[in-house]
Amino acid sequence: FGGTSVSSVANWRNIAQVAVARRAEGARVLIVHSALSGMTDRLERLLDVARTEAQEEGLREIELCHRRLAADLGIELGEVIECQLAELRQIAAGVALIGEVSDRTRARVMSAGELMATDLGARFLAAQGLEAEWADARTMLGAEERANASAKASILSAVCSFAPDHVLEQRLRAMAPVIVTQGFIASDADGNTVLLGRGGSDTSAAYLAAKLRARRLEIWTDVPGMFSANPRQVPTARLLRALHYDEAQE
Ligand code: ASP
Ligand code: MG
Repeated sequence: FGGTSVSSVANWRNIAQVAVARRAEGARVLIVHSALSGMTDRLERLLDVARTEAQEEGLREIELCHRRLAADLGIELGEVIECQLAELRQIAAGVALIGEVSDRTRARVMSAGELMATDLGARFLAAQGLEAEWADARTMLGAEERANASAKASILSAVCSFAPDHVLEQRLRAMAPVIVTQGFIASDADGNTVLLGRGGSDTSAAYLAAKLRARRLEIWTDVPGMFSANPRQVPTARLLRALHYDEAQE
């Protein structure tokens, strides 16, 4: 699920319905999703050393977006997100002081959007009565060493293996039947957070589907339902299933 598909309570009702429907088909469900819409850009703007005076407002907006969605979802903002916000504040202050940003710091800050959004998502689904559990994508997706990639590319646009991973399969099988994890983020051999490049959530979902030999991969992003193909590339793509609710009524 892309950013626009996880940013409202209406979206989350749809996600819950999709998960329930897939469970009814006997599937175990791994939900991979993005940060809230616009969040990754906001996080990146915190690192703009030329505009550190805008950090305060940026931090406030980031907090407000998550607070609002949490309130709409009827859940607490929660400790995990409070901690992430506190850490972002500290890093932003450090960046303003030092006047430069390493690629590692950039990856760490930009990963916060997915980490916070999935925390809300997993708790919302559990509150709806689903057997749902949060998982850290960085423990599932390890970046591959690439001999000819720059250090920057290895950190900000990493590549992962998509060979079947039986150990991962076993590990997830022992967890709840609905698992919520982050798109966009992975870890390197030293356990540092790395990114898969902007828009990388779909890539994460594809990697995980391949690793887990999933029966099906569904990409829900910026569309009014599930299409037979990417409607931006295939003009004749058909709407297979509309969303269950009327967004206009929300
Ligand atoms: N949140 C990340 C981005 O905005 C990843 C994604 O949306 O797929 O690039
Ligand atoms: Mg996105």
